[in-house]
Amino acid sequence: MRKKIVAGNWKMNENLQEGIALAKEINDMLVADKPHCGVVICTPFIHLAKVADVLDQRVVELGAENCADKDKGAYTGEVSAAMVKSTGAQYVILGHSERRQYYGETAEILKEKVQLALANGLKVIFCCGETLEEREAEKQNEVVKAELDGSVFHLTAEEWKNIVLAYEPIWAIGTGKTATSDQAEEMLAYIRSIVADKYGKDVAEDTTILYGGSCKASNAPELFAKPNIDGGLIGGASLKAADFKGIIDAWKK
Ligand code: PEP
Repeated sequence: MRKKIVAGNWKMNENLQEGIALAKEINDMLVADKPHCGVVICTPFIHLAKVADVLDQRVVELGAENCADKDKGAYTGEVSAAMVKSTGAQYVILGHSERRQYYGETAEILKEKVQLALANGLKVIFCCGETLEEREAEKQNEVVKAELDGSVFHLTAEEWKNIVLAYEPIWAIGTGKTATSDQAEEMLAYIRSIVADKYGKDVAEDTTILYGGSCKASNAPELFAKPNIDGGLIGGASLKAADFKGIIDAWKK
């Protein structure tokens, strides 16, 4: 049975003290009322080591939002996958549309990052998704397939076990405009079908595929009720413990 996951992406929010307090609040809520899914919080690099100290990672796991495409060395300002792992983090988000759009992360760069993350024992939450123009031109399947082909479909079946996919239509991220549950389901079913083409049906059935884009407590139950949607990658609504918990609780319904 594939794992259900709700993962938070804090982006560039919360200073260190605020981040520790938020992580502690989320952790305490979930230790007291055990989630019916895996929970991950992905924080800025500077939070990782301190947040690791306040989490019970049997209940809430920790992830980074990025890592370098180089192993180590003279790359001022970068943070390697090995460094992320050394903080106690288990996951890293790669391929987020904001990284692709604002920091020029290409499929080739992401391929390097994915390889280094896996080599250093991190699980990867790999994001893919189309722009509004691409959807209007009905190119969403083509775009998503190209993103997966370019950065993750070279992996071995063994490596694939540490990949979680997140479909995040760019037009739904931070816009308040959620894909309908039917649109999300249709795309996740398509993604599962191309994973099956590549790795076989059993692997595809075991692959966790998340939806991301303005997911909140009010729409999570309908999204998570769809057979191919295994949870969510949550931006804005992961910054308040009660809102995030509301989404996690959708798995109880
Ligand atoms: C995201 O950035 O991964 C995301 C899904 O953001 P939001 O939930 O704010 O749309």
